[in-house]
Amino acid sequence: KYKKKWAATIPKISCTKMALQNFDMNYSVQFGEQWPSIRIALLSEMKYGALVNNFAETEKVMQELEHLNAKDFIFESHRKIQNSVPDASVDSQEERKSAELLDAPRRHVPVERSSGGETAAQEQTFDSNLLYNTSNIKCYTFAKGDISRFAPARPDITGMLSYYLMDAASVMPVLALGVRPGDAVLDICAAPGGKTLALLQTQMCCYLAANDISASRTLRLQRVLHSYIPENFCNSDSIRITSWDGRRIGEVESNRFDKVLVDVPCTTDRHSLMEEDNNIFHKLRTKERQMFPLLQVELLVSGIRSVKPGGSVVYCTCSLSQLQNECVVERAAEVVATDHDIHVELEDLGHFRELYSNTFRFQSTCRVGELILPHLTANFGPMYFCKLSRVN
Ligand code: SAM
Repeated sequence: KYKKKWAATIPKISCTKMALQNFDMNYSVQFGEQWPSIRIALLSEMKYGALVNNFAETEKVMQELEHLNAKDFIFESHRKIQNSVPDASVDSQEERKSAELLDAPRRHVPVERSSGGETAAQEQTFDSNLLYNTSNIKCYTFAKGDISRFAPARPDITGMLSYYLMDAASVMPVLALGVRPGDAVLDICAAPGGKTLALLQTQMCCYLAANDISASRTLRLQRVLHSYIPENFCNSDSIRITSWDGRRIGEVESNRFDKVLVDVPCTTDRHSLMEEDNNIFHKLRTKERQMFPLLQVELLVSGIRSVKPGGSVVYCTCSLSQLQNECVVERAAEVVATDHDIHVELEDLGHFRELYSNTFRFQSTCRVGELILPHLTANFGPMYFCKLSRVN
């Protein structure tokens, strides 16, 4: 026992250490034997992806990145699938553009039955998105095990920066959203703007509303967009930037958007282990941290209310915590059903796991959604994402 007045002399425990203790306690139970390997990856340097700016000198940048031996993992993953599907091989660089731009309806690809009575080829439906990268998004990474780093991006002759460095796993929720030409899109927690920028790279949003409650972070978002998107593209008819409480948007703008991204505040696991500054495991932020699941449910409910019936919402976090991931999605689906008579369906994103397994390590046992696990040979994430479609 120590006397209270001496407590000040007890060594202060740092926020990063608090975070590690918390994760050890919770994640060793959640992940069992896998935890030590995730833990060591989280404590090691993460890998970046270079999101190519389609508004800069794209071809030149891509050549430079390829010269470094980096690869566009999205293009490579789609090519891998194409090559494994009969009658759909598109493997030359020449065909790359037409393949990417192809926005074909669902394709029927004949596959042989491996067992059973019938010998005739069986028709199986493949989603065209599996075969072709229709998103226009290009993100370069170094191969598994290659820990090279990208240099900071430089402006091109027009003054636009050529690529944006981000966790490559952050592109996945944007890809999962599946923006289509003409979509009105809401990014409800947008700052500092990595995913907003990826959404704009699709060049398919007829309208993009980027919102973040924090005025200072919204300013950062504006600066990012200013450095990557030409002025004439940023007019108020096509892009709206606001600093509202995202929890209110569902009520004020109900049934308005085709696609909504809900990238909520969370325990930002990797950041919390590395940075003392602005750390959510600071003693004074305990209450705020404990309230995260509630805030996350409210933001997701708001996102679901703001999407049109038939539209889709992607919920994501950069935390490994089941309480902030699956539990939030399940709770939000209950709340919209009971409080607003809105029904949602959870989309199976299993094909993503298959498609991008060369780049990321996925957890295969999420109840709902997909989780990218940090790993020393592919040190991206954590990134949880789950897609919900609004039925009515
Ligand atoms: N999507 C961003 C990106 O890719 O760069 C990262 C978003 S970050 C994970 C979460 C953001 O949610 C923070 O910028 C925070 O300011 C914002 N936020 C927190 N509470 C909010 C609320 N009630 N409404 C809107 N935004 C909120």
